[in-house]
Amino acid sequence: MDIISYVSEMPKAELHLHIEGTLEPEMMMALAEKHGVVLPYTTLDEVHAAYNFSDLQSFLDLYYFGASVLRDESDFFDLMWAYLVKCRQQNIVHTEIMFDPQTHTDRGIAFDVMMKGYLGALKQAEAEWGQSFKLIMCFLRHLSQASAFETLGMAEPFSDDIDAVGLDSGELGNPPEKFSDVFAAAAQQGYQCVAHAGEEGPPAYIWGALNSLNVARIDHGVRCLEDDELVAQLVRDQTPLTVCPLSNVRLCVVDEMKDHPILTMLDKGLLVTVNSDDPPYFGGYLNDNFLAMVGGLGLAQDQAKQLAANSFKASFLDEEKKQYFLGALDSF
Ligand SMILES: [Zn+2]
Repeated sequence: MDIISYVSEMPKAELHLHIEGTLEPEMMMALAEKHGVVLPYTTLDEVHAAYNFSDLQSFLDLYYFGASVLRDESDFFDLMWAYLVKCRQQNIVHTEIMFDPQTHTDRGIAFDVMMKGYLGALKQAEAEWGQSFKLIMCFLRHLSQASAFETLGMAEPFSDDIDAVGLDSGELGNPPEKFSDVFAAAAQQGYQCVAHAGEEGPPAYIWGALNSLNVARIDHGVRCLEDDELVAQLVRDQTPLTVCPLSNVRLCVVDEMKDHPILTMLDKGLLVTVNSDDPPYFGGYLNDNFLAMVGGLGLAQDQAKQLAANSFKASFLDEEKKQYFLGALDSF
């Protein structure tokens, strides 16, 4: 089997995907029309052109603007459903999906409207083709810890459906320590903890996420390479890093795919995984990331297999399910 078929068809998990970041330009236009939202674009080409941002903040401005067309339960259902269909097409047999409640509750959308839409699509995909999934509720780090606490409270009726809490949005100026109390409370309530750190922020933010938030995994974390002591600890503890290659190129964390350090990270023994982050904004879904690594980094089959194995090991699946998927990958 050639490498392109191999990476496309191998069973894999995705652990770093923002559902609000899967809004395709076509859906944005259709929902804007449905709800009478006036977008500053008149054609699809203009929306595609707007996806041409220069850094994390200019991306986030567009991202929050795009999310404002999501209004009723069926919008949230449709958004989630479109991504789950991609999972099926790309052999993403397990996915751990991040969602940002504050993006919606802050503009007057009820928590349960969002949640019922998302859960409806997830349960249908589970019933139709056995899609495996977990949910990660993220706090927006540019907002206050008080707002994060409020969100944690709103999630209580859905605590059985939500597996973990995370921390996302603009990293610079919003260090992990700002959220130590709400993460402690979430852990007390039984949630797993993850956080974005070391994407645009320095290695100190990764230390902060580990020491102040007690996270089980780091989202991104590529800048750990600037700190040897940190790399040694991450290797020793096998702390997973959910790396997003196309996102890093698009947001200029690295210049080009050929400069991406993910295979160096793999060689150092770090538990790295490949993920798509916000696919339509960053140039592709999970398989597109693997294919970009084939083209830009010369990704080999044994490396692809290792990365897929890591995605199951780094997941929040129980041991039995991990072994099941690892076995499926082995016999693929
Ligand atoms: Zn992210």
